Amino acid sequence: MAVMITDLCINCGDCAPECPVAAILSNDDEKNPHADERFYVKAETCVECVGHADAPRCAAVCPTEGSIVWDMPYTTEFEEYFVAGHENGTYKIREHKSKGLMLPSVKAQPFMENIGMDLRDSRATVAL
Ligand code: SF4
Ligand code: SF4
Repeated sequence: MAVMITDLCINCGDCAPECPVAAILSNDDEKNPHADERFYVKAETCVECVGHADAPRCAAVCPTEGSIVWDMPYTTEFEEYFVAGHENGTYKIREHKSKGLMLPSVKAQPFMENIGMDLRDSRATVAL
């Protein structure tokens, strides 16, 4: 990850088309583990907009304070965190036919190194 969408999301749909890597699923997508509740960011796909923008584009258009928050970097350091989140339904990490679950050990993702762990641990709102 990445960033995470919380239950404050009002399903307006503004964020998904802004994502440069198509990491955001709508609330009626069957791949969304929170379908019927809110939009969802695929942790294994989000690059925190590194290489695309100076800040997360999804948060730039989101009208709802607290709807898009920081999550852990999608790196092997947080492998167990994402495994646990996949098992408890927080995430629905994609299963590749030959590679298996696309966990950080299979493919890590870039993250914004200037965002401290305090902000990530506390699920702070992505502020621009
Ligand atoms: S931070 Fe960027 S890459 Fe991640 S979901 Fe938002 S728009 Fe997509
Ligand atoms: S822009 Fe914000 S409120 Fe709208 S769907 Fe995305 S996360 Fe939810």
